[in-house]
Amino acid sequence: MDISMMKQRIILVIFAISLGVNILGMLADPGLLIIPALLLGWFMADLSSGLVHMYMDYRPCPAGRRLDEIFDYPGSRESSEYQQLFRERMAALNPFERLVYDFKNHHPRPDALGRRPVWRLIGSTVIVAALPLSLTLNGLMLALPMPGWVLAYFSAFLLGGAFAQYFHGSLHRRDNPPIVTLLRRAGLLMTPAAHQLHHDTLKQDFATNCGWSNPIINHLFQWLRQRGHLDDAGLVPPA
Ligand SMILES: [Zn+2]
Ligand SMILES: [Zn+2]
Repeated sequence: MDISMMKQRIILVIFAISLGVNILGMLADPGLLIIPALLLGWFMADLSSGLVHMYMDYRPCPAGRRLDEIFDYPGSRESSEYQQLFRERMAALNPFERLVYDFKNHHPRPDALGRRPVWRLIGSTVIVAALPLSLTLNGLMLALPMPGWVLAYFSAFLLGGAFAQYFHGSLHRRDNPPIVTLLRRAGLLMTPAAHQLHHDTLKQDFATNCGWSNPIINHLFQWLRQRGHLDDAGLVPPA
């Protein structure tokens, strides 16, 4: 999303404050239910991001836009010729189509995701989904007595959902902040080895947060394929 650095910061600060308010609300009404609610929210974020990933991988890019020329570009992607071509082809797509292209582009060039700045990874998810949901929750807290476990569920869901592409990027990067290593050790984030199973076949393990939902998504994938959906042709941009 093309917005200035200043606006990016402001949006992220508002999101952090809004999420902080929800977490404070959770802490104000502690109880044993908070633990399973946090885990369920974390699981649901994994499931949601995995379903989005599966859909975006197989949703065809629009035909007739010569996207194959940038997808299969034989020369250096640092070259000004490629950069120019890339800008031209992307300009003909709407933001959603660009995102769809991005998911396919990730498969042959996975490490590029690990090099992206945080805003590139989470900005659109925060603007379109996480921030509006978090602010709605803040509003509900003012209007209704919200149990701590409800706020726990949504806080974990919002955090996992907003950072889903960041966590995916961390699987394609060697240097990560200690929190990522810690969450991996605790089993709350998946390992690069586990995610490699997705890249090996593109037919399984679409969830990239903790991966707890992958058995369910894999079943759904098989079920949809048996019914003729999610055709392999969707994995690669057409001419
Ligand atoms: Zn994929
Ligand atoms: Zn990946």
